[in-house]
Amino acid sequence: MKTIALALAAVAGLAATGAQAQGYPTRPITMIVPFAAGGPTDVIARIVTDHMSRTLGQQIVIENVAGAGGTTGITRAAQSQADGYTIMMGHMGTHGAAPALYPNLKYDPTKDFAPIGLAAGTPIVIVAKKDFPANDLKGFLEYLKTNSDKVNMAHAGVGSVSHSTGIFFNSVIKVKPTMVAYRGTGPALNDLMANTVDFMTDQIVNVAPQIQGNNIKAFAIATPERSPVLPNVPTTKEAGLEGYEVSAWNAVFAPKATPPDVVKKLSDALMKSLDDENTKKRLLDLGGVIPSNAERTPEALQKLVESEVARWTPVLKAAGATAE
Ligand code: ASP
Repeated sequence: MKTIALALAAVAGLAATGAQAQGYPTRPITMIVPFAAGGPTDVIARIVTDHMSRTLGQQIVIENVAGAGGTTGITRAAQSQADGYTIMMGHMGTHGAAPALYPNLKYDPTKDFAPIGLAAGTPIVIVAKKDFPANDLKGFLEYLKTNSDKVNMAHAGVGSVSHSTGIFFNSVIKVKPTMVAYRGTGPALNDLMANTVDFMTDQIVNVAPQIQGNNIKAFAIATPERSPVLPNVPTTKEAGLEGYEVSAWNAVFAPKATPPDVVKKLSDALMKSLDDENTKKRLLDLGGVIPSNAERTPEALQKLVESEVARWTPVLKAAGATAE
């Protein structure tokens, strides 16, 4: 009797899962953004989910869960129910740099997620407050070298993109500015514009509008080519700085056990969003880089995460970085 009841329950359970995945999504989906609203990850999340919501026929609601360089929100998202109703926007920090900096990290970026797809590439720009006493990268580096103890560098928490690319920058230049943590580079940018913090290395989508508006200074972009949205900002190499080329990325993940057909629906919706002219324009206008079709797949994202963890671990260890 007991066996039959159990068997029936199992069949009912299976049917329920199948039906759930088939009708998915039947209610709004939450996307956890592990940083403050208004910052680069939040902006990219809002742009790509706009069109995804229309494809899926359900709203994707953004929930900002900031803290510990993005690892608080990603831990929560990784541990939430794997039913497709909680997904997340991770990035080069949470899914690349964090393992090198948090010995007790509660997730393994290479094992604990169902990758959905890459949303946007985000070149890194070296920016400073408008009043910074230098007008080009050369002058900036000279100033930094002699006044390092007086300079404050903003970042979005240990392991975030601005933190890891920032300490990589400091190790290349051999300077030790005072590090000031924020809950995202959205609030850090506000302080940069208010002239209360000195500089940061941040993702282009956050800073491009303020550079264009002359509200902050941009000394260089850390990519091999200039960005079409910042044609006057030299590359680090052009400006005479060798050894500092770095780009970030933001990508959608789901918790590990998310059913494959749900993963497919989400990934198809993301691909469609990235093909939409309006989504593309909004990302490109901010200097974002649209991933190619081959780069957008869950498999490509899994490979990217593995290569990023492998790339950042030695860089950050050599820079002597820890989760202070
Ligand atoms: N991406 C973060 C944000 O949205 C900042 C960072 O990782 O540096 O604020």
